[in-house]
Amino acid sequence: MVVLKFGGTSVGKPERMKKIAELVLGTPGKKIVVLSALSGTTNTLVAIGDHLLAGQKAKAEEETANLEKHYQSFIKELYASESFQAIGQEIVSRFFIFIRMLAAGQFDNKGYRELLAQGELISTELFYQHLQERRITARLLPALYFMSIDENDEPELEKISERLKPLVSSLTNIDIVITQGYICRNNKNEIDNLKRGGSDYTASLIGAAIRAEEVQIWTDIDGMHNNDPRIVKKTIPISELTFDEASELAYFGAKILHPSTIVPAQKYNVPVRLKNTMDEKAPGTIITGKGAAPGSFKAIAAKDGITAINIRSSRMLMAYGFLRRVFEVFENHKTSIDMITTSEVAVSLTIDNALHLPSIENELKKFGSIEVDKDQTIICIVGQKITEQKGVLKKIFEALGDVPVRMVSCGGSTNNVSVLVEKQYKE
Ligand code: ADP
Ligand code: ASP
Ligand code: MG
Repeated sequence: MVVLKFGGTSVGKPERMKKIAELVLGTPGKKIVVLSALSGTTNTLVAIGDHLLAGQKAKAEEETANLEKHYQSFIKELYASESFQAIGQEIVSRFFIFIRMLAAGQFDNKGYRELLAQGELISTELFYQHLQERRITARLLPALYFMSIDENDEPELEKISERLKPLVSSLTNIDIVITQGYICRNNKNEIDNLKRGGSDYTASLIGAAIRAEEVQIWTDIDGMHNNDPRIVKKTIPISELTFDEASELAYFGAKILHPSTIVPAQKYNVPVRLKNTMDEKAPGTIITGKGAAPGSFKAIAAKDGITAINIRSSRMLMAYGFLRRVFEVFENHKTSIDMITTSEVAVSLTIDNALHLPSIENELKKFGSIEVDKDQTIICIVGQKITEQKGVLKKIFEALGDVPVRMVSCGGSTNNVSVLVEKQYKE
């Protein structure tokens, strides 16, 4: 079985949705199709939710009405016959009645998450009806039946697998199973999500849960490029990556993949292929566990919004147990640490989630003096066993020239050297 995931731009226009039906039909065997919301929808739902939380109902209604118009014109182009136009109309009306119901009630974080789930719920229904109109047999399998996260927001892969396997095998003689990316249930059984860009993660979790032959991520670019094409000109696609390399790139900012996408696939050795919906002949990128030959630099990614925290304590740093106590502060605040460097008198570390920064700072003050630098960027340089090769750091530092470097991390993984710079130097 193959898992095919189509991102927002791949389903964002009626003609693209028709195109992905062709791509699905052209893939032999049984497949699970994971869809994102139409491009722009989740952003708009976030905006509506923010307005509602801020008590700005009129602004929320304005956004809602615009989004509804967008869907009205979408279905006009998607469906050919009058009867399916009517079905499309019914779907859109039902969703927007529900969105307005959410908006009219006591809107809280639970309602917010329900609102965010509507994008994937509607895109999958619209696509399913498109296949129905073309008399293509398929089934809709709600992700909320099987996709779940625990109290730490971590996907419960084993449970997902236990639920999904019988569901999929109950669909005998069905080659196309459609489900929603991004959405899930949390440990309170409420509707939740896998964070922005999470449909990639859904696809990989499903691929691991059913031990798929392959997970294909179809997007608007011909694979993982060697640098961020939104910032750097003349980037080129990379044909092969190892799980480790791809994982580092995704985690450190390559937007083409949700940061955690590779983890489940790697666990069960399921290859992940990145493909371009607009150019299906392009080879894309294949990500596997095959050990690539040690080579030179393969790719660079950057992660913004990093906060660096320096804890200086001549008294305590050398004492055993000191780092454990520092790490405990972050653990207690459910904040993960990305980079860390130590000297005899100080330790510097970075976090990407500054939600609990004020109380983290307060607790760290017990250990010594604290310095915080916001708006930092991690630049992550990736290549197979690059840290074991001669002259690698020299080349990196030559390239950095006069750019002031706040931290360097090398040796944690053999595939990656990371440097922390102020965001203004990122480009
Ligand atoms: P989707 O909606 O299909 O999930 P995304 O917008 O999330 O698509 O991801 C695809 C985009 O990721 C590309 O259009 C590209 O601008 C961006 N991107 C950032 N870094 C990279 C990279 N290293 N390689 C390829 N694409 C990248
Ligand atoms: N629709 C969600 C988002 O925009 C998930 C995804 O597209 O992967 O973040
Ligand atoms: Mg994405």
